[in-house]
Amino acid sequence: MGMEQLGNEIRASLPGSLERLKNYLRLPSVSAQRQAIPETVDYVVQMLEEIGGQAKVLDEWGGNPVIYGYFAAGPEGDSSKTILFYNHYDVQPAEPLEEWNSPPFEPTLADGKLFARGVADNKGDLVARLTAIQVLQNNGGLPCNIKFLIEGEEEIGSPNLEPYLRTYQDLFQADACIWEFGNKDESERISMVAGIKGMAYLELTCEGAQIDLHSSVGAYVDNAAWRLVQALASMKNEKNEILVEGFYDGIVEPDAEVRLAVKELPFDEQAIVNRYGLKRPLITTAKRIDPREAMVFHPTMTICGLESGYTGEGAKTVLPKRAKAKVDCRLVPGQDPDHILVSVERHLLRHGFDDVKVSMVNGQRAYRSDYHHPFVAHVLQTARLVYDQEPVLAPNAAGTGPMYAFGKLLNLPIVSTGVGWAGSQVHAPNESIRLDDYEQGIMHMVLMLAGFSQALKTAEMHS
Ligand SMILES: [Zn+2]
Repeated sequence: MGMEQLGNEIRASLPGSLERLKNYLRLPSVSAQRQAIPETVDYVVQMLEEIGGQAKVLDEWGGNPVIYGYFAAGPEGDSSKTILFYNHYDVQPAEPLEEWNSPPFEPTLADGKLFARGVADNKGDLVARLTAIQVLQNNGGLPCNIKFLIEGEEEIGSPNLEPYLRTYQDLFQADACIWEFGNKDESERISMVAGIKGMAYLELTCEGAQIDLHSSVGAYVDNAAWRLVQALASMKNEKNEILVEGFYDGIVEPDAEVRLAVKELPFDEQAIVNRYGLKRPLITTAKRIDPREAMVFHPTMTICGLESGYTGEGAKTVLPKRAKAKVDCRLVPGQDPDHILVSVERHLLRHGFDDVKVSMVNGQRAYRSDYHHPFVAHVLQTARLVYDQEPVLAPNAAGTGPMYAFGKLLNLPIVSTGVGWAGSQVHAPNESIRLDDYEQGIMHMVLMLAGFSQALKTAEMHS
């Protein structure tokens, strides 16, 4: 089928597709507040079955169920190849409600955009994918097997995902995976990723006394807040180099092609300075490194919050009994969150901070797909056919997600792409997608699925 005819087919499918999406958006499936979960599970199952898929609800570890979906390759298709889509049906809370211009769970069309909580993250992506399947079914049948894993706890950190993947490894087995999200960047380029950073989220606590003290005793009593800031200061210097021995252990060095891909990523320093109102130069400037490389290849150590003593209005002289810090470390491929925890513990002991205790709130490894896998090239190539501008594909995102378990347990390459735009306001009030991006996202998935098996087979023949 030619591109023009395909475009017409997709346009004809849009009214039905948007109706389905709107009904999905009306379900306030906020995982953090345990809202509307059973209804949403039923609705997702219904969407899968309505277009001829099989659905299975997996509900075993007390969290929100995981939905498995399956569409077999059509008679003309290649049943030896399978693609897996990862999506989530839960959304972030809609608060603060007063900042929404329309009710968050009443999808509203305005200016070519559809507004609702979860429309960009990640309900629009799922329905776009289902629509692509329908378009293919109506035009010669499905070119390969298609599986879905749709979970309901992504927005609360996917605490139960790994047991499902371990138990149902065979059920979810596939040759490649399309991850949940993606958006156009500020220059209107579709921005995709083939991996994700990991995380070691740490909590450091220093206890100096059993009760808060009158600050006059500061003449002779040590202070938990000072101890904690000194401990923190020992972990990172003024050049923003992380000084914890062992922190950089295991890091996988990227090869030349991956490095080159990172140089091509967009990065507009002035726009970033303006957007956040930054008061200090970028830390990469002093380190004389490219911020793109830092985003993709370098781990971070960030103080997220500090708590101690009195921080209210006016003066209250107090010598606090306790001080606490939350620190997140974004990890790169090869780093192990458990090893980060042990390294920080050892560092504190070695530097005399035996009164500073560290614990890990959550840990996740990073994942970077094999950048040379033909699937990665295929997703990129089909994006070029759809989008007006050269697509952007980062080897891994600067953010974190539960990709490692997928990549390792299912042993497959993963690329994330979707229907968002630079102004989607994911997790914030007035979340939206643009209908034009939605249409293009469907087109991309149609082309990606249509040539998927051929792309893998051609590569197999040449290897
Ligand atoms: Zn989200």
